[in-house]
Amino acid sequence: MKIIMLGAPGAGKGTQAKKIAEKYGIPHISTGDIFRANIKNGTELGKKAKTFMDKGLLVPDELVVDLVVDRVNQEDCANGYVLDGFPRTIPQAEALDKALADMGQKVDYAIDVDVPDENIVKRMSGRRACVDCGATYHIVYAPTKEENVCDKCQGELILRDDDKPETVQKRLNVYHEQTQPLIDYYTEKKILAKVDGTTDIEVVFDTIVKILGA
Ligand code: ADP
Ligand code: AMP
Repeated sequence: MKIIMLGAPGAGKGTQAKKIAEKYGIPHISTGDIFRANIKNGTELGKKAKTFMDKGLLVPDELVVDLVVDRVNQEDCANGYVLDGFPRTIPQAEALDKALADMGQKVDYAIDVDVPDENIVKRMSGRRACVDCGATYHIVYAPTKEENVCDKCQGELILRDDDKPETVQKRLNVYHEQTQPLIDYYTEKKILAKVDGTTDIEVVFDTIVKILGA
């Protein structure tokens, strides 16, 4: 099962993608996590990506596409995967479709987690990410057992630099301009499913499971 998660920054793509990956036993591939790991490790890719991420801009397509195509060709992706944060532009979607078509494959579902802009800024200011394992929490909607300590690895939790309100507004603009057109793209391919992302995390997940099948 090959699944794409669509939605504004902070809509809950990562939260749902992790739950899908766990339930269906497929890898969760987050391009944002891959870039953050590269930044942490001081790689050339990380240095390049950071200049765009800090400004709330998308990393150029040529730095993203090959990385994802290589990743989905790895052995653990044979039974499918859930892509979180990719594609984010029409050229990325076309490149993915072409790479899959060359292997006789296709995307099965594009799930659009729909949350209005008004809710997003509030969500993002409460998001906390673990510096060590990347797990994501929310101070109100998905709190840790102990304040500022990751439940999974005891790592320290931080507010991502790009989750500060001024950058979030920029990222929302970028989303509407460059990523939202993908909703029409996948609607035309008849694989788009829209879910209401404003309900509780478990309610959103139940809706997605009904779409994907148990
Ligand atoms: P994305 O991957 O789309 O950027 P996340 O999955 O990281 O978004 O979610 C953004 C923030 O909102 C996180 O702090 C997360 O815990 C919280 N969150 C996710 N889904 C919901 C929901 N349905 N209701 C309330 N908060 C949520
Ligand atoms: P995310 O963790 O998905 O919110 O991504 C954080 C940031 O990483 C984005 O704001 C972009 O700067 C960059 N990024 C992640 N995925 C992509 C992508 N597919 N295309 C371009 N930039 C991306």
